[in-house]
Amino acid sequence: LKINKSELEAIAVRPAQYPPDGPAEIAFAGRSNVGKSSLLNLLTGRKNLARVSGAPGKTRTINFYRINDRFRIVDLPGYGYAKVSKSVSEDWGQMMERYLGTREGLRRVIQLVDIRHAPTRQDLQMYEYLRHYGLDGVVVATKADKVSRNEQAKNLAVIRKELKLGPEDILLPVSALKRTGTEQLLDVIEKVLEE
Ligand code: GDP
Repeated sequence: LKINKSELEAIAVRPAQYPPDGPAEIAFAGRSNVGKSSLLNLLTGRKNLARVSGAPGKTRTINFYRINDRFRIVDLPGYGYAKVSKSVSEDWGQMMERYLGTREGLRRVIQLVDIRHAPTRQDLQMYEYLRHYGLDGVVVATKADKVSRNEQAKNLAVIRKELKLGPEDILLPVSALKRTGTEQLLDVIEKVLEE
């Protein structure tokens, strides 16, 4: 898969603001600051497809991008930012549930975790949630450039164990900074689209 066209189609809070359901959608989820915007910008070859957050947790929208006039990449709001108030985090849960629970076109949610740490409690919850909806199976470990080769292998094993990934589940290290792992991720997306 090569992305040669990407357009922002909708920025939504409520389902009424989603673009029409139907085209295949691949969504991305992760803790605020995990590197989601950087990765999406790199994948799509755009500087500012997604805002790289100066203020993590501020973006409470679901952003829909039309890719190659063929499918959508959906940027889900980040979670786990400490300063988010209770009402805002409840809104987050409602937004996620409405989207994940009802979207016909949704093929998979790619879960992002930071390669430097064991998954957080919220990462585990998020992944359980994806498993519940049958949207699990692809995990990306971000900021791979921040650890040595040895640590990388060790940390990937921890992530695999903590998230209870099976042998068929994909765990892919990527670095937006060094631009590594993105070809493999695009291959995974192509496979999901062909399923
Ligand atoms: P988001 O909140 O998940 O969208 O995360 P951002 O893309 O805004 O990234 C959060 C911070 O991590 C920023 O300071 C980025 O420059 C940094 N970052 C993102 N990806 C990488 C990466 O692959 N390697 C390194 N070293 N830093 C990264």
